[in-house]
Amino acid sequence: MSSPVWLPEIVYVSESAREDSMTSRVLTRLPEVDVRYIPDGSDPLAEKTAGTDFSRDSERFSAGKRRLMLTRYQGSWMRACPGTSQHVCCNLWTINPGEGCPFDCSYCYLQSYLLRNPTLKLYVNTADMMNEVEQRISSDRSRLFRITTGEVVDSLVWDNLTDSSYDLVPFFARQDNAILELKTKSNHIDNLLRLKNEHRGHTVISWSVNAESICRTDEVHTASLDERIEAASQVVEAGYRVGFHFDPVVHFPGWEDEYSASVRKIFDRIAVGNVAWVSVASLRYAPQMQEIMRERFPHSDLPYGEQFLAKDNKLRYIQPLRFKVIDFVWKQLKSVSPAMPVYMCMESPAAWRNIAGGPPVAGSELQEVFSRAGRLPVIGQDSI
Ligand code: SF4
Repeated sequence: MSSPVWLPEIVYVSESAREDSMTSRVLTRLPEVDVRYIPDGSDPLAEKTAGTDFSRDSERFSAGKRRLMLTRYQGSWMRACPGTSQHVCCNLWTINPGEGCPFDCSYCYLQSYLLRNPTLKLYVNTADMMNEVEQRISSDRSRLFRITTGEVVDSLVWDNLTDSSYDLVPFFARQDNAILELKTKSNHIDNLLRLKNEHRGHTVISWSVNAESICRTDEVHTASLDERIEAASQVVEAGYRVGFHFDPVVHFPGWEDEYSASVRKIFDRIAVGNVAWVSVASLRYAPQMQEIMRERFPHSDLPYGEQFLAKDNKLRYIQPLRFKVIDFVWKQLKSVSPAMPVYMCMESPAAWRNIAGGPPVAGSELQEVFSRAGRLPVIGQDSI
């Protein structure tokens, strides 16, 4: 049973999206919500709300999380993940069926990346997105494309409103050289369970996980760690492979005990053979986010402590501490099984040398994550 879906206070529908079938599906499922039709390109927050000071970035961003816009996207959909400068990239591709996330994590980079965005957005013309993906991946069949919808929105948070997984999962099942990664902190898996005979091993569901106290205090509105693990175990039963992202690993009193407890909790339920990949990354964020984090999450400790500007212009822990927290979680995971496919997200070549003994190599358990070209890893139900 999923946690209740988050509901917006106001839904704006841009004029060009009025007739789309996705628009009517979403509106039918939000019968109580205030719906307003607006011209394309207008700013919904231009209309002021009493008591909210939209000149303050933090208030504007918070107000945007309570409003949803249904609109059409006209740009290019599929992009290589921007990664981060001077760090090792895992070659993930991104498609964004929306923008902005109703969950509210204190460390979320959208607080700088989408700071001026007036609302959350859902794009109703996702058929165009899938056409573009099909063209791109069919132009290079020797390459395996790992593609996620979870870059600027949680992949499953809206699924109970949109039923997007009914389009995406069967679509990717037909693509021999592509895997869809649905990244989430929710437990909205009802549609995925109904698709258990249709995914053909081409969809991986991954959960962002953390120390239990960080999930509780710094990941507002998300499913609890236990709920995420329960959901992971159910999709494994439905034949999907799963992933986990220990991101961001945070340094706080008791962190070692809590992270090793999280690793144990997860892998007491999930067999390593069902795991496609696990990433580890330490806390990092743009310097301009620090003030917004303090204003929006006054009880969070994450914006405090010794953090330094790294080469990628993000605040990170000083290098020895950064390596220490990643190394600890890495070793916990490898102690479950040396075959655990663990990689570091947005980390430096020095971190790979220090923690993993060197960069990821062809033929290792990370072949699927880092593959760019050449022989494709075997995917499908048989390899699960
Ligand atoms: S779930 Fe992800 S995208 Fe959503 S608020 Fe949290 S960090 Fe941001």
